[in-house]
Amino acid sequence: MKREKKKITVFELSVENIVEAGTAVDFHTGSWRSERPVWNKEKCINCLLCWISCPDNSIRIVLGENKITTVAGINYSHCKGCGICAKECPHKIKAIVMEQEKK
Ligand code: SF4
Ligand code: SF4
Repeated sequence: MKREKKKITVFELSVENIVEAGTAVDFHTGSWRSERPVWNKEKCINCLLCWISCPDNSIRIVLGENKITTVAGINYSHCKGCGICAKECPHKIKAIVMEQEKK
């Protein structure tokens, strides 16, 4: 016998599993990684393509004395290892490469 599924609206969904806004910083999603991006400061030309591409805002930047924004490293607590930064880094420069995550 085929059972009819009752359709519900979004307003009828349970609210028990909705988390507070602004808590993403508390979740250290870097533990999900199987590969990690490794940044080479010497090769980097500070084009910031990696920074604008990172979906987790894990490329650290700093504002220098001359008011020029530069890459300062990678936030491994939140980097999930998707590799987008390494793909976006210009091919001739390759200042970010993905490496196997160490245990
Ligand atoms: S690997 Fe993905 S999450 Fe990690 S810094 Fe690069 S773009 Fe961001
Ligand atoms: S994309 Fe590559 S060269 Fe550009 S800022 Fe990022 S690491 Fe540096």
